[in-house]
Amino acid sequence: MALPREILDIQTIYMEPAVETYDRGRQVLAYYPNARRIMVPSHHEIPTLYGNEGNAEDWLRIKQHTLVLGVKKSMSMRPNERSSNFIAPSTSNGCAMACAYCYVPRRKGYANPITVFVNIEQICAALGRHARRQGLKPAADQVDPNLWVYDLGENGDLSVDALVSDNVRDLVATFRDLSNAKGSFATKYVNRDLLGYDPQGKTRIRFSLMPEQVAQVVDVRTSPVSERIAAINDFVEAGYEVHINFSPVIVYDGWERDYIELFEKLDATLSATAKEQLKAEVIFLTHNAALHEVNLRWHPRAEDWLWRPELQQKKLSQNGMWNLRYKVHEKRRYVESFLGTLRRALPCCEVRYAF
Ligand code: SF4
Repeated sequence: MALPREILDIQTIYMEPAVETYDRGRQVLAYYPNARRIMVPSHHEIPTLYGNEGNAEDWLRIKQHTLVLGVKKSMSMRPNERSSNFIAPSTSNGCAMACAYCYVPRRKGYANPITVFVNIEQICAALGRHARRQGLKPAADQVDPNLWVYDLGENGDLSVDALVSDNVRDLVATFRDLSNAKGSFATKYVNRDLLGYDPQGKTRIRFSLMPEQVAQVVDVRTSPVSERIAAINDFVEAGYEVHINFSPVIVYDGWERDYIELFEKLDATLSATAKEQLKAEVIFLTHNAALHEVNLRWHPRAEDWLWRPELQQKKLSQNGMWNLRYKVHEKRRYVESFLGTLRRALPCCEVRYAF
C-alpha cells in the first residue's frame, strides 16, 4: 500500500473559536495561511475525523493534511512511576505517524491527526507552579537521581509537534529554568530543529528503537531506526539527556539475534559522552484484539509480527478492551534474555525498568 511520504502537508485546520485569542493560535494559523479553516465547538468532538476506522488510506491522509487546534482545559499532573514522576498536562495529542501497535488511537479513534493546544503559556505556568511546590527531590529513584521528571509526550510525538508550533521549544525553555525538574518524552522521529533549543540537560529525549527489519513494517511514517541511532550523539552534544526506549520489544524467530545486532550498532556508534549518560527502559509488546482487526484491513503485514496468539494471553483491560501480552512465564524468560544480552553487548547501558 502506498503511504504518504511527506510527514505533514497541512491543508485543513479544525479549530475551536477561542484559538485566535491566543498568540500561539495566531502564530500557527499564520504559518498555514492557505489551509481551509473549519470552526468546531470542541477539539475532541469532530465526528468526521475521529472514530473512522473503516478506510485506512483516508486516515493516513488525514494525519498528513489535517491539524486540530484547541485549548487544553485540565492542568492536572498525574503521578507516574515508570518513565517519569508526573505526567504533565499534554500540549498536544494525536500523531502524524501511524505505528501499527500504537495505543493512542485505541482511545481516540483511528484517524487521529495532531491536535495542538494553543494555551501553552498556561500549561508552562502550571508546570512551573507544580514543580516549585515539590521542592527538592528527597531521594533518588529509577526515574532520575536528582530531579523530578515530567512526561511531556504521553499522547503523541513531540518531535513532530515541533514542526507545527513552538510549543516544544517553550517546554524545553520552561524546564531549563526550573532548578528541580526535568521534562522527558519518547520519540520515533528525528527533528534536527530541536538541536537549537538549548535544553542545558533539563530535557530527556528517549529515542525508541527496535530491530530495523521489524520497524520497517510496524513503525509507519517514522524516521528509520538507523537515523534515530545516528542522531543520538548530536542530541547529547546539543545538551539533551538521551535515553533509549526499547519499546515495544516484539518476539519472533530470531528476535534475540536481531537485538544483539542493534546493541552492537549502538556500541559502535555512540560517543563516550553519550554512553556515559545512557540509560534505557524496556517494554515488551502489548497488543489489542480490536486494533488487530483494524490493522488486518490496512496493514496485514504488521500483524505477522504483532499477532502471535500462540505466544500471547488475553487480559481484559480497565477500559473493557481485550489486550494481548506475552504469556507470563515465557515473558519472564524473554526479559531475562533481553537484559543479559544487553549487559554483554552494551555494558554502559543501565536499565531503568523492564517489563
Ligand atoms: S510515534 Fe508514538 S504516538 Fe505516534 S503513532 Fe507511533 S507510537 Fe503512536
